[in-house]
Amino acid sequence: MQHEGEPMQSRHAEPVYTAQVPFNVANVSRCLCPGCPVQSDSSCVAEKNDHFEMALKQNPLNPEELPAAYCSSGVARCKDLDGDRTCICGSCPVFSEYYLASGEPAGYFCQYGATR
Ligand code: SF4
Ligand code: SF4
Repeated sequence: MQHEGEPMQSRHAEPVYTAQVPFNVANVSRCLCPGCPVQSDSSCVAEKNDHFEMALKQNPLNPEELPAAYCSSGVARCKDLDGDRTCICGSCPVFSEYYLASGEPAGYFCQYGATR
């Protein structure tokens, strides 16, 4: 009699890369968006930043309240950002950890949406 349900062995020796970035405390805390010139003059962002630490304690995190980690959460909810200024995602540890330079878009996630 044959045995059924034996675990299948993966044929992939290399881990499969996925560009998706979790919207979690670790990533939001390391995100450089709070210091980015693109949103530094946004009154909408400034208002949300007043409650940033409190919002970071919520579980689950609410992207509506945290103007950060747009590579995960997508286009900014605040609409008064200045997309003509320079995105600083390239210096972010989250950007390098998730190889976001290989994804699309490769920056300005607050303008063009999450990495994919
Ligand atoms: S890559 Fe950009 S959007 Fe993503 S966490 Fe870093 S600074 Fe924020
Ligand atoms: S996604 Fe890039 S451009 Fe947008 S706020 Fe973050 S660092 Fe700045």
